[in-house]
Parts: sequence; structure tokens; C-alpha cells
Amino acid sequence: MPDAPRFIGAADLHVHSVVSDGTETPAALMAEAAEVGLAAIALTDHDATTGWAEAAGAVDRTGVALIPGMELSTREGYVSVHVLGYLFDPLDEDLLAETARIRESRLTRAETIVRRISRDYDLDWDDVLAQTAEGATIGRPHIADALVARGHVADRSAAFAGILHPRMGYAQPHYAPDPLTGVRLIRAAGGVPVLAHPGTRGAERVISDARLAQLVDAGLFGLEVEHPENRPDAKRRLRDLAARFDLAITGASDYHGTGKVNRLGEQQTAAEVVDRIVAEGTGSAPVLPSPSVE
Ligand code: AMP
Ligand code: FE
Ligand code: FE
Ligand code: ZN
Repeated sequence: MPDAPRFIGAADLHVHSVVSDGTETPAALMAEAAEVGLAAIALTDHDATTGWAEAAGAVDRTGVALIPGMELSTREGYVSVHVLGYLFDPLDEDLLAETARIRESRLTRAETIVRRISRDYDLDWDDVLAQTAEGATIGRPHIADALVARGHVADRSAAFAGILHPRMGYAQPHYAPDPLTGVRLIRAAGGVPVLAHPGTRGAERVISDARLAQLVDAGLFGLEVEHPENRPDAKRRLRDLAARFDLAITGASDYHGTGKVNRLGEQQTAAEVVDRIVAEGTGSAPVLPSPSVE
């Protein structure tokens, strides 16, 4: 019999490191979490779990618990949909194959975007590599950082509002499975799936009842309602959906270090919901500080 899940406390369940498009190392994130008084964080890099080991290694030193996670890229038509997964098996073959395919497509897509930009701006692939940790899941933020380093834009936000905006014609999407497949993959790997920031585009463009019903059937656990970029009107609709579909509500900062204005721990998930996630996740275990060093 596995031990009953231990009480962890409220936690920031959505945090990025240099393993994807955050600016801090996993160990530095754990130290920062301790500084702001967090009991636990979930490390949720885009389409990668390679930061788990380093973060786990910092648990005893910082006293911060780690909930291993990932933000899986999915796509519904032209709309990018992110699905957070917690406590899944990082060696699950289907999930590994899918994330490898996404990361590969992210790489060739980034090369294409840079090639297009380089026709109009002084920028080459080496500029992007200089902004990217080895093996990291590459995304537009790394191209944005390269544009900043070259002096073409002031910061990531300016890059996204300008050169990297789809209407400018440089950017293009990468491969991603549909959200239903994403939710199924995470559950099949023993994980707990939560729809990330589903209200960033306003109440009218929150997921439809019919589509959400399918995700719930596939095992969706919750909605990330308390996210800094969800719009207020959308949050109202999301709370209503959570009540009607009996979904948990999570909160998180989506901290990216200096890459975004979001502050670590600014939104958190209630202790009771964290406990339920820990109870449902069977593919991997949370990493808790050993009592002897506390
Ligand atoms: P991509 O992974 O290439 O689709 O790029 C999406 C990522 O860009 C998101 O995960 C965010 O981290 C980041 N992002 C999107 N919009 C902005 C923005 N306005 N400022 C900073 N980062 C952004
Ligand atoms: Fe990101
Ligand atoms: Fe996201
Ligand atoms: Zn994120």
C-alpha cells in the first residue's frame, strides 16, 4: 500500500525555468520560492521534464516541496491550448513520443521564423542559440530575447506585440496534438490534467460547454482560473463551468523569471486542491523536504 498523501499546503502550480522559456534555472526557482514563502511549486516547463531532477535536488536545501509537472502544447484549429499535467510518469512512452515530436517541430518552426525575420532584420540563428539553454524547449520567447539583444525591440512583450505577432507574417505555428489527445496522454501516464489559462482571450472565447464535456470525459481534473492573464469576465464563466462540470479550480503565477511581469507565487492553488492532485497523480511522486533537515 502506498502511503497516504501528505499535506503539502497551498502551492504555485505553474512555473517555467530555462528548460523552456523561463529565465531562471530550476534550482534558482526553488530558492526564490523559499524567499517568497511558498510551501511548494510545480515546475511546468513547456513539453519537457528535464528540469525535474535539478529542482528535486534543491528541495532539502530550500524546504520547498516540488510537484513535478509540465505544460503540454496542444492546438485546437489555429488556437494554441496549453494543458498542465502533474505527477505523470516522465518515462511514459506515448507522452515521450508526443513531446519529442512537439519539441522537434518547435525547433524547425523557430528556424523558419528566424529565416524570415533575417530578410528584414539583422538576426541569425546563432543569436537565438545564445539565448537558449542547451536542450531547452525552444519557443518565440527565445527569438524575442535575441531581438532584444540585437536592439530591435525593448523586451519580450514588445517583440510579441510587433515582429512576432502573427499578422506580421514571420511567425507560424508548430505541430501540437489536439487538447483531447493531450488530456488523454497525461491521464494515461498517471498524471492529473488541468486546462492552463483558459480565459486569456475573454469570456466569449473560453472553451465551449460541448468541448469541455469531452475533456472532462477524458479525465480533465481542473481549470486554471486564478491566472494573472485570465480576464475578469472569463473568470466568472470559468467558475460557473467548474461548478457545473465538478472541476477543481487552480491558481498559479505562470512565472517566467524576468521574461514576463508575473511574480512567483502571486496566485496559488488551495491546499485542499493540491492534496487532491497529489492523491490522484500516480505516475510520479511529489518531492517533499525530509523532516530531519527542517
Ligand atoms: P510559443 O511557445 O512559441 O508558442 O510562445 C508562447 C510563449 O510565449 C508563452 O508560453 C509565453 O511564455 C510567451 N509569451 C506570450 N506572449 C508574451 C508576452 N506578451 N510577453 C512575454 N512572453 C510572452
Ligand atoms: Fe511560456
Ligand atoms: Fe501557457
Ligand atoms: Zn506557462
